[in-house]
This record gives sequence, C-alpha cells and structure tokens, in this order.
Amino acid sequence: MLRVGLGEDIHRLAAGGPLILGGVPIDGEVHAVAHSDGDALVHALIDALLGPLCSESIGSLFPDSDPAYRGADSMELLRIVKQRYLEGVTILNLDSVVILDRPRLVPVLPRIRENIAGALGIDPAQVGIKGKTSEQTATDRVEARVVVLMEIS
Ligand code: MG
Repeated sequence: MLRVGLGEDIHRLAAGGPLILGGVPIDGEVHAVAHSDGDALVHALIDALLGPLCSESIGSLFPDSDPAYRGADSMELLRIVKQRYLEGVTILNLDSVVILDRPRLVPVLPRIRENIAGALGIDPAQVGIKGKTSEQTATDRVEARVVVLMEIS
C-alpha cells in the first residue's frame, strides 16, 4: 500500500558556522541552535518517514533530554531509522523545502541530495530539495518541510 509522510522542523540560528543541512556543513556566519547537530532537513525527513510507519517521532526516539544525543550526527540518526523501520518499505520519492535566508543553499544542493539518497539507499533523482528565502521575514531561523511517498509491502 502507498503511504505519504510529512515532517517539519525549525531551528533558531546563532552566530558562528557551520550550518549543517542534509549532513553537509555549510560555511557561513550561522549555525543552528540545537541539542544535536541541528540538521533541520534531516529531522523533518525522519519525522516524515516515521509518520506512516509507527507511532514514534524523532523526539520520542532520540529525546533532546538524553545526553547520548548531545551533538548527535543527524545522518547517523537517519541511518538508525532506516535500519529499524524501513525494511519492506520502498521510498518512491521525497520532496522538501528549506526556508533560509543565509547562507545560500544552491551551491550545496547536489551534495545534500547525494547524502540523503545514499543514507536511504535511493537514487538522488528521487530526492527533491528546494531552497527558498523567507524574504527577510524569518532571518533568525532555518525551517524544513519534507514529504515522502512510500510503498509498504
Ligand atoms: Mg530539530
């Protein structure tokens, strides 16, 4: 059967880089404030994957009150989710939007797509990522929204 998943995440930005998105450290003047590495795109992706598969969410699986996840590599969390929950699941495609004014995402989008595709064992062509600015309405944060279409056998 086909199932769609949706995930969202927001992190505040603070001075000092790098900002990590899709496992790629992006040089610039800001980083995401977080218990983990603050990878909003991967956090939204994890919630989009978990939604149709179980009653867990990223917050319940990897609580930010747990010191074990301090500074956690979110790509590693994504690999754990794949291992635990994605057996028998075919990801047809995922699409996403990252809302961020600075730094610009365009130069790193191919690396982010490859990283995420690699972690999920799918083709980069199945991974959509669009960068948008907030038009200066939300310069203090990074936001990510992800939808995933999957077939569960
Ligand atoms: Mg998060």
